Amino acid sequence: TYDVLVVGAGHGGAQIVASLRQQGFKGSIGMIGDEVDAPYERPPLSKAYLAGETSVDQLLLRPQAFWIEQEIALKTGLRVTSVDAQAHQVRCASGEQFGYRHLVWATGGQPRRLVCKGSDLAGIHVVRTRAQVDAMRDEVVHAKNVVIIGGGYIGLETAAILAKAGKSVCVIEAQDRVLARVTSPVVSAFYEEEHRRHGVRILTKTSIESLLGDKGRIAGVLLSNGEVLPADMAVVGIGLIPEVSALMDAGAVCTNGVDIDAQCRTTLLDVYALGDCVNYVNAFADGARVRLESVQNANDQAKVVATNIIGIAQASYSAVPWFWSNQYDLKLQTVGLNIGYDQTVVRGNPDNRSFSVVYLRKGKIIALDCINAARDFVFGKKLVAQGVVATAAQLEDVHVDLNSLAA
Ligand code: FAD
Repeated sequence: TYDVLVVGAGHGGAQIVASLRQQGFKGSIGMIGDEVDAPYERPPLSKAYLAGETSVDQLLLRPQAFWIEQEIALKTGLRVTSVDAQAHQVRCASGEQFGYRHLVWATGGQPRRLVCKGSDLAGIHVVRTRAQVDAMRDEVVHAKNVVIIGGGYIGLETAAILAKAGKSVCVIEAQDRVLARVTSPVVSAFYEEEHRRHGVRILTKTSIESLLGDKGRIAGVLLSNGEVLPADMAVVGIGLIPEVSALMDAGAVCTNGVDIDAQCRTTLLDVYALGDCVNYVNAFADGARVRLESVQNANDQAKVVATNIIGIAQASYSAVPWFWSNQYDLKLQTVGLNIGYDQTVVRGNPDNRSFSVVYLRKGKIIALDCINAARDFVFGKKLVAQGVVATAAQLEDVHVDLNSLAA
């Protein structure tokens, strides 16, 4: 039995155990992860690591010695399959059982898979784990035509790396623009143009009929409009399914992830949850429930959970959301959540490849997408945190530093 047992050895898992020790927690800590690796950084998987510019060791979130020095019983390659909330126990696929005083569920999720004819062919990849990306890197060397299914951040980052590596890349997106779920039309149009400039074909409003095979391996993609795209490889980036079935079976309330309250508690006694697998009312979402997928969200929730487990103070989660994406030489940094925006203001000129889009709701700044505009991001964070009201004229004027609008 552990005083704290963490399920999921990813970003949030690594942060919660570090925060517990930093805050002086002396109790026993166990951490169970189903990957073979110690916790590592996921964002480079579709960026520098995919490009072959970073080694596995450089991905590690903590040096190997950390786990021993901090007396954390890290168990990798083990998958938790059920939780008995009453008995305070988890069971693994291996049959092993572990008891806990506090359970922290930090399991992220599984990439959503395609459901169409041919989706089980060889050569179809997803980008969530180091092992998956290694498999993709091994194959991409021999690939000429790569079809990327899904024009979200992961699909587009992958497209950028593969285009730079000289592959013929086509991105298929069902909606009428890429990044439709997360950004405004002006940012979507900018990225579509950038990718086209780099030779990537982008097909929007396009869906897939089936994947065509040759000797068990992908050879093409049949679109619903009848066109066949040649493909030696496909990468599927169509979203994440939160990994919460064991909690759901144990009786936790789950709605697209496990529901948590402001203290990151699930509805099960002594079970906290955090990161990509949780659904909660975010202070910056105008009262809406969200399930965010960002390093910031996982890390900041982990700090809240650590404080609440230690119990010196009651901490609530209220951090300003932020996120980044790298494509080519473009660094996008976003802050806030643009949910329910009714106005956008473009600051700077997209043609100069350095600009920001400010999102407002009833005159209040709620989010910014900053492209090669780090200053706007830094000051924009303050404006979002403070809920500053501003006019389009103030925001448009690049000579007015955003800092001057802060309280
Ligand atoms: P994870 O880091 O996914 O960790 C969960 C771990 O739990 C995994 O190792 C999983 O295998 C394991 N697990 C699951 N179920 C079980 C089980 N039953 N038993 C044991 N272990 C289990 N975010 C950004 O902010 N910026 C970026 O640029 C960015 N780029 C990204 C690029 C890629 C390719 C991907 C995949 C994600 C990216 N993200 C980015 C998102 C970010 O990586 C996630 O938000 C973050 O990893 C969430 O942390 P987490 O702890 O919730 O989940």
